[in-house]
Amino acid sequence: MDTETTGLRVHARIDIAAIAHNLARIRALVAGPPADAPRIWATVKADAYGHGIRRILPALAAADGLAVTQLADARDCREAGWNAPILVYGGLLEADEARRLDMPDLHLVLSHAAQIDWLEAAEPSGPPPWIWLRYTGDIGYVGFDDAGYAAAYARCAVLAARGRIAGIGHLNHYGSAEHADGLARADARFRALARGLPGPRSCSNSAALLRHPDAARGTDWVRPGLALYGASPLPAMDGPALGLRPSMSLHSRIVGLRDVAAGEHIGYNGAVRVSVPLRVGLVACGYGDGYPRHAPPGTPVRVDGHAAAILGGVTMDLLPVDLTGLPPIAIGAPVVLWGTPELPVEAVARHMGTIAAELLTSLTRRVPVIPFAPALLARTP
Ligand SMILES: *Cc1c(COP(=O)(O)O)cnc(C)c1O
Repeated sequence: MDTETTGLRVHARIDIAAIAHNLARIRALVAGPPADAPRIWATVKADAYGHGIRRILPALAAADGLAVTQLADARDCREAGWNAPILVYGGLLEADEARRLDMPDLHLVLSHAAQIDWLEAAEPSGPPPWIWLRYTGDIGYVGFDDAGYAAAYARCAVLAARGRIAGIGHLNHYGSAEHADGLARADARFRALARGLPGPRSCSNSAALLRHPDAARGTDWVRPGLALYGASPLPAMDGPALGLRPSMSLHSRIVGLRDVAAGEHIGYNGAVRVSVPLRVGLVACGYGDGYPRHAPPGTPVRVDGHAAAILGGVTMDLLPVDLTGLPPIAIGAPVVLWGTPELPVEAVARHMGTIAAELLTSLTRRVPVIPFAPALLARTP
């Protein structure tokens, strides 16, 4: 083990150069004729998908804007030195926030009429924000539906005419963009809804722009999240196959070795039944670190560079892996839980019945982070 990991039972590596690479890759993918190339809202919600906004901001210097969940996150980005536009997906949480909009280049996504009430009622307190009206779309969670969208637009147009807001954009979010036929219907409805209404359009998340780049090219802003971190949302292709580089990997080490006889049980309440003689390694990582407790037997890991699999039975601090048939593995042998090109986080997530974004955002505070790419870090904006 290298000295920076001495004494660490588990650690995450964050490669911010990979994020800069992925951003460039996404830009190339959606680039059409230069005048029409969509701009990029780099999505950094959930503390940049678990990477830490401050840590990775230097890698996003070439993005056109950041997208966050709530206003408090936007303030964090400003404090960290981000001076370009910021889009807030959650818009306004309460009336009070509309009275304290003191941030330049702020873009608020509005998804219900009370948010427009709050803007109308508030005294102007700073530079007028941009507004993006969100359509409920095929995901059907928050947003204005077919019946309410035009009226919301009309109210916002009045605010714009009074100089209370800087402009109005149109935002849609897809529910199943990773599928070949997952976009056409949702897109047609959104187009019909916003037809004739002036203002920029923003539709594509990672799945949409990777699976349907032509549709993304026809919009004004795209909103990648997961792809920036090198993971693929597409079922049939992992990030490296799409030219993306994983930006977070999770590492641990072997802290126990046992030969377990057939018929024995190990783990709490005999969680793991051993049916053939096994060489078992105990890895110093568990649900207390953010590795899911319900990860099923067979979930892949890499031990000392070899493919291996967990046996289930994840505890707070430990998880057992099957080392049977591998070359001799010693105490202290390095273990990768996810996030290298050989073990993409999305492949691991699939085995667990979840998605990459959940794993990336689940690491707990006790996992130390070791950043890469010092050269890039030195160029903090
Ligand atoms: C999270 C989010 C995105 C980014 O999604 P990914 O699938 O991670 O690319 C884009 N738009 C909205 C509205 C979001 O909430």
